[in-house]
Amino acid sequence: MDTETERKHSLDALTNGAMAGIWEWVQQKIPVGVEVFDAHAHIGADVDGRTMTAGGMRDRMAQAGVSRSIVFPLNDPNARDDFSGPNDVLWNAYEEYPDLFVPFFRLNPHRDYEKEFERCLDRGFKGLKLHPVSQAFELDDPEAVRLFGMAAEADLPVLIHAGFAMQRIVEPLLPTVERHPELRLILGHAAMVEVLEAVRAFEIHPNVLFETSVVGLRDLYVLFRTLDPARISYGSDIPYGDLPSTLYATLAAADAAGVPDGELPGILSGNIRRWFP
Ligand SMILES: [Zn+2]
Repeated sequence: MDTETERKHSLDALTNGAMAGIWEWVQQKIPVGVEVFDAHAHIGADVDGRTMTAGGMRDRMAQAGVSRSIVFPLNDPNARDDFSGPNDVLWNAYEEYPDLFVPFFRLNPHRDYEKEFERCLDRGFKGLKLHPVSQAFELDDPEAVRLFGMAAEADLPVLIHAGFAMQRIVEPLLPTVERHPELRLILGHAAMVEVLEAVRAFEIHPNVLFETSVVGLRDLYVLFRTLDPARISYGSDIPYGDLPSTLYATLAAADAAGVPDGELPGILSGNIRRWFP
């Protein structure tokens, strides 16, 4: 098979064959007229070998009927000091598909980030992605705290990796949330290592959203049982997750937790679309 055929084949495998029944359930569960918005996806290359192109993302979205995606760099081997190279790749993807993508840039709080922060802000990026594990920082490190302050000042939403391999989320992040209640934060992977603690700490802060990508079903269930669904947004984490599987996990967990169908448009789209109309 050539790569094009191979790619189509692997995309089809997510919605056909053994997956057909699951995909059918997902499609009948998505309320009519809802334009699904993916709050967590990557374009570029990662040190672990994963890659995703703008065209690959477009194909995946078209196949699953997803209309918009927040996209940002991976942990790119070409990040150099400031992620300017991967951020440029992101911006090019956005210019190619401005209706599909909401571009976030990525930074390393350990490095000189001021120039790149200003450059990306001036360029028109819509948000910032931070990954405490990949960039080896704590959410209460002074340089990270300062960066959160700059984002709050610039009214720039921040998506934080708050999932796999994280040790501390709520305790180091809470002071920042209390100091900048206007700062819009997306907890990537729904703070899955401490979901309940995060729900308790952040439920009174309406500008903190919990994003559902690649979270285990049990944690998703706990999330939907304990948090106002208006604070939960669907995400895929492409290329680590895929759209059909993550849509299924989110919808099945919401269903099992007894979330009313009337909340699904918000979870799949409206809750995050408010920030990026
Ligand atoms: Zn991710």
